[in-house]
Amino acid sequence: MPIILTGHFDIKVLPYSMPLFPETIEIRLPKTKIAGNVAEITWSDQKKTVHSSYQLRMVCPCAKCRNTHNPDPNAVRGPIGVPPFVEIEAFDWVGNYALNFMFSDGHNSGIYTYKHVRELDESANGV
Ligand SMILES: [Zn+2]
Repeated sequence: MPIILTGHFDIKVLPYSMPLFPETIEIRLPKTKIAGNVAEITWSDQKKTVHSSYQLRMVCPCAKCRNTHNPDPNAVRGPIGVPPFVEIEAFDWVGNYALNFMFSDGHNSGIYTYKHVRELDESANGV
C-alpha cells in the first residue's frame, strides 16, 4: 500500500508574480522499498516532477547542512550521515514560496523554495 499525503495549495491572492507553484504533492512509498520514498509534485503549469526523499534530504538548504560557517574551504558542504533509506514523513507549506519536509532522520529545518525544487528536476533531466 503506497502512503499518499496530498496537499492542495489554495491560491487566492499573491503579493507578487509566482508563475510556478505546486498544485499537489504526493508522497509515495514504493512497493519495493529500495531507497526511501518519493515526492511527486504537480506544478501549476501541469508539469510533474519526481524527487526522491534522499535527493531532497541531500540538498537541504539549511545553514547546518550547508555548513556555511565553516571557514575550511575543504569542509563538506552538505549533510553528512544521512541514511540512504531516509524517507519524507510529512511536509508543510512555508508562506507561498516554499516547502518544508520532515525527514525520517529527524531533520526538518530546510526551507525549499519552489524555484529550488523545480530546478532540481530540470538539472536532473538536463533541461
Ligand atoms: Zn538541513
